[in-house]
Amino acid sequence: MSDSKYQLERVSGAPVSNEEILSDLRRAAELAGTTVVTQKLYSEFGRYNPSTALRRFGTWNNAVVAAGLQIANEINLTDERLFENIMLLWEHFGRQPRRAELAKPPSVISQSAYLRRFDSWTDALTQFVAYANAKDTRPPGPVEISKGHKTGRDVSLRLRFRVMKRDNFSCRACGASPALEPGLTLHVDHIVAWSLGGETLDENLQTLCEPCNLGKSNVL
Ligand SMILES: [Zn+2]
Repeated sequence: MSDSKYQLERVSGAPVSNEEILSDLRRAAELAGTTVVTQKLYSEFGRYNPSTALRRFGTWNNAVVAAGLQIANEINLTDERLFENIMLLWEHFGRQPRRAELAKPPSVISQSAYLRRFDSWTDALTQFVAYANAKDTRPPGPVEISKGHKTGRDVSLRLRFRVMKRDNFSCRACGASPALEPGLTLHVDHIVAWSLGGETLDENLQTLCEPCNLGKSNVL
């Protein structure tokens, strides 16, 4: 088991560097199996007193951000950011993400942020799907129009979701899916390459796994 309790009592006069504090925050996160480190969790897993981090970094959240970790109660998160994180998880698991999965990487936003914004996790997922199914309003830029395109090259979050959902989050070439092969990366690919005049529309997009997509290149 953890021996951290014994290390709380440091030799007096041995100052802790900021880097030591930050690396211990990351260590505590890893030990706890989460990227959301609250003061409460840190007092359980950390080597130092949370007040040390508070003093050094001004606020607890400053220390957490400096350590590259998640803020549990980050406020003013836009819906877009909340939805991006849902999409990240959906792609990672190759299926609808579960509430408990918010607490672990690759999630970067905690459950509490969703529960502040939505009635429940189910409600958050419902709103996300409604958002993804709404019409894209982004017009093509002047550069794209000058190249004869009606659409921009980038695939928006909602289009990415729609294409992957239609393809069951699996590769259209070989059938592989992160649901069966954890860690597999999926790409959304232009069937007719954008550089060859293909548009960024549902019908010209397909889901490919990374190995299939990298083997494809622009040669049709
Ligand atoms: Zn494939």
